[in-house]
Order: sequence, then structure tokens, then C-alpha cells
Amino acid sequence: ERSFDVESIRKDFPILLREVNGKPLVYFDNAATSQTPQQVIDAIVDYYSRYNANIHRGVHTLSQEATDAYEEARRKVQQHFNAAKAHEIIFTSGTTHAINLVASGFSTLLKVGDEIIVSALEHHSNIVPWQMLAEKTGAILKVIPMNEQGMLKMDEYQQLLSEKTKLVFVNHVSNALGTVNPIKEIIDSAHNRGAAVLVDGAQAAPHIKADMQELDVDFYAVSAHKMCGPTGVGMLYGKEEWLKKLPPYQGGGEMIATVTFEKTTYADLPHKFEAGTPDICGGIAFGAALDYMNSIGYENIAAYEHELLAYATQELLKIEDLRIYGTSVEKTAVISFNIGSIHPYDIGTIIDKLGIAVRTGHHCAQPIMDYYKIPGTVRASFAFYNTREEIDNFVGAVKRAKNMLS
Ligand code: PMP
Repeated sequence: ERSFDVESIRKDFPILLREVNGKPLVYFDNAATSQTPQQVIDAIVDYYSRYNANIHRGVHTLSQEATDAYEEARRKVQQHFNAAKAHEIIFTSGTTHAINLVASGFSTLLKVGDEIIVSALEHHSNIVPWQMLAEKTGAILKVIPMNEQGMLKMDEYQQLLSEKTKLVFVNHVSNALGTVNPIKEIIDSAHNRGAAVLVDGAQAAPHIKADMQELDVDFYAVSAHKMCGPTGVGMLYGKEEWLKKLPPYQGGGEMIATVTFEKTTYADLPHKFEAGTPDICGGIAFGAALDYMNSIGYENIAAYEHELLAYATQELLKIEDLRIYGTSVEKTAVISFNIGSIHPYDIGTIIDKLGIAVRTGHHCAQPIMDYYKIPGTVRASFAFYNTREEIDNFVGAVKRAKNMLS
């Protein structure tokens, strides 16, 4: 069995050769956005160098080549997530757009007194659109609480479910803590009450290959930029029956069948939800990113990242007064921490001077910070191209910052 050859993988990422403040870059902000391999950069350059054209409309060769490549990318996304049909894959600008598309559609399906359930572990992207929906429709928003370990209280979830529940939306993995939520159980319980489920897969997608048919999920959203693809593109998976039921999100070109001033009819799936010229290059590059991730293999990625996570956790916990938030056994390679009463921003600023990129703050998940009664955390998030040496470097930098600040 071949061991994970991280040094050869690192050669695929030109940015990893950069220096920051005179030091080699240590990029531990992968949960915010991942870095881009040369294979994906090449797909972008190739598109704009050889076949940049608008899709689905032109009879000319370039337009056909672009259309074919874009639809091929859709099939790659379909295969990767094991959706039953290619037209169940809607290209969006990312997770946020995908969630808003569904939330907006549900405004025609909910009535006063219906209930919708969110979890305490969500990113603001998976809270705010539903609050807006509740305001618009008179539906009631309920929250699955969390515990000290950063896990959902599943018994309380079961209590919240009722015949009134229409929709449940949770993330697969928490961006702030890395907790992997028991989404299969969440989905099955919701379905038993006749409720639909949307899973925000933004943080799961780089680490876990989710199978749409096995999960039997109704909606699943991801962003390409968290899984080696470019920014500005993502996916909404929706079960065909749901996508047929939901009204279009935006009106415009591409999404129509016929237009007269009396009445417009909508195009079939997936085009009904893809108004306007999409990020054609981005979609194609998203496909290239999936090819890249799969060439390394999700099992290899997960095994290696778990080694990094275990090592970094062990080394960080040697620092006195350091507390890690999110201690679920099921977690991705994310460590959210504070040291004593030192402000996370101060640690982040000092270690940036040493070339290390981490995120500090509330991570767009203020309810989690409120739960722990803290303003924020330092979050180090690892990818398969990170190394143990980088972790040593990072832990050393955190110790220096602590000494300077206390
Ligand atoms: N949900 C989660 C769990 C996330 O981590 C993020 C990105 N930080 C989003 C949603 C939003 O993704 P995007 O900004 O790409 O739309």
C-alpha cells in the first residue's frame, strides 16, 4: 500500500510556494476557501484561451464546445454526488445562492403556523434566508439546541418534529467547529413526519463524498471554492419532484420555454433555475476540481486529514489554558480554540506575521459563539495538502503569540 504522498500533491498547488511576510506560507484557512491546483487553473485558462462562448444558444462551433463542456461538468457533479438525474443538479453561484433559491421557493408552499427547523450549529447562510421566509409566510422557526461538545441534541430534535413540520435545514458539517452532524438520522426522522430536508454541504464537500440517493436528502448545497474549485460557482441538488414543485427563483433568459406579454412558460429542469448567462468557465472548472479530488480519493484524503487533526489537537493541547471548542468524535479537520482570555484576533494577527493563515472571529456562526459566551475563536482548518511540519510551525507560532500577549 502506497503512503499518502503529500510532497507530490503539494507540487500541484502553485500558491503553496508563496512567502508571506518573508516566511513560507502555512495555509490553515481551508474551511473559508481551499487552494486551487494547477489542473483547475489549466481548465480555466483553456476555456478562455480556446472556446469562450455563450452556451445553449449558438449554433456555432465554439458555443457548442462550451455547451458540451458545461453539460459534461454537470454530469461530473451528478456522478460525484450520485444524483439519480443530471437535471437534478442546478448550477448556482454557491451555497448561499442555493439555499436562497430553495427558501424563496418555499414561500409559495408554506402557510401561517407551519413549522421549519434549523440547528444551533448553522452558518448565517443557513439561518437568515429561513428567518426571512418565516417573516414572509408566518411560519415558525424552531432551533435544535447544541451541547458543550458542539453536538446537536438529537433527543430534542425528535421532540421538535411534529405534523406541523414542513422543512428541516441543517449543515452536514459545522464550519465553526467541524462537527459532523448525524444527517441520515435527521433526514429519516423528518421524512417520517412528511417534512423535507435541506442539507448545507459546504463544509462536508471537501472531506466527505455525500451520496444523494443513499441519504435520500431533498436538497443539498455546496460551493466549488471549498473543494479545489473556483469561487462564484456551486451546486444545488434537488430531488426532481421538489424542483418541479418549486417556482423559478429568477426570471430571465435561459429559464423560459416561450415568452409573450400575456404569459411566459418555463423551461424544463435544470434550466428553469438557471436564468441568465451562468459562470460557464466556473462550472467547467468545478468539474475539473472534482476530477482532481477524486484522483486523490476521498478515503485517502479523510485518512490523512484525520492524522493531521489528531496530531495538531495533541500538540495544541500541550499549551496551557488552551481550550478547543467542538470535541465531537465525528469531526473534520477543523480546530477552533482560544487561549485564556486572549482575543482571537490578536493571535491571528501575530501568527500572520509568521506566514500563517488562520481565521479569527465568529465564523459567520454567531449563535455558536453566544452559546460558549465568547466573541470568537481562532480556527485552523486543514486540507490534504497540509503537513505535520506546517503544524509544528503553527504550534510554535501560537506559543510565541501567547508569550507576547500574556
Ligand atoms: N454554509 C457553510 C457551513 C459554510 O461554511 C459556508 C462558507 N463559509 C457557507 C454556507 C456559505 O458558502 P458561500 O459563501 O460559498 O456561499
